Amino acid sequence: MDEQFADKDGHLVLEKLIDIIRKNKVYLSEVDGAVGDGDHGINMAKGFTLTAERLTKEMGLSEGLQILGRTLVMEIGGAMGPLYGSFFKAMARACCDSEQIDAQVFGKMLEAGYVSVVDLGQAKVGDKTLVDTLHPALEAYKIALGDGADFKDALLRMSRAAERGKESTKNLMAKVGRSSRLGDRSKGVIDAGAVSCYLILKSLADTISALL
Ligand code: ADP
Ligand code: MG
Repeated sequence: MDEQFADKDGHLVLEKLIDIIRKNKVYLSEVDGAVGDGDHGINMAKGFTLTAERLTKEMGLSEGLQILGRTLVMEIGGAMGPLYGSFFKAMARACCDSEQIDAQVFGKMLEAGYVSVVDLGQAKVGDKTLVDTLHPALEAYKIALGDGADFKDALLRMSRAAERGKESTKNLMAKVGRSSRLGDRSKGVIDAGAVSCYLILKSLADTISALL
């Protein structure tokens, strides 16, 4: 079994990411509407749709992620534009010198994305944000590699941990971002960014597994 895929075949990864965000536009805004301002799906779908118009089939993974990141940073407001923008730009930088993406390179991408989100947003695990999805996903991925898991298995373990992390936000009280203004009333519903982050990580895992 191949344990890597070519950067130049990465276009599919971007296509699938854009698909999943557009399909969940209404759902993400509904989730955000419970404790936020209900724009998360709109913000996400707008940024990913603008990106779709700028991608060509010739662009590989790194270039595609760079365009996605830049589009989100430059053109999308709210919390998610800068946060996901820096996430994808950091992922792009971490693979820009790799013609082949293997489990190690993807681990570096995920770590770089995580670090840039935390640098910018300063959210910790338990604050009820997308970090509650991203952090356990990264940890599970690193532990899987440490255990000697292959790329596919590590991706599966990452997306399962992301799902559990997303679910964990339900019982948390928001400490940062717009919904933190609600205090205790932010409990009982899942966090919108934690959901979109799960969708993104699950899509990455599924598409990359299919490319291996
Ligand atoms: P806004 O809150 O400006 O309306 P969005 O609705 O697009 O922006 O995104 C809201 C999501 O952003 C939240 O659900 C949360 O997961 C995430 N978020 C907000 N602030 C932070 C932060 N400082 N660090 C990480 N994630 C954050
Ligand atoms: Mg919002």
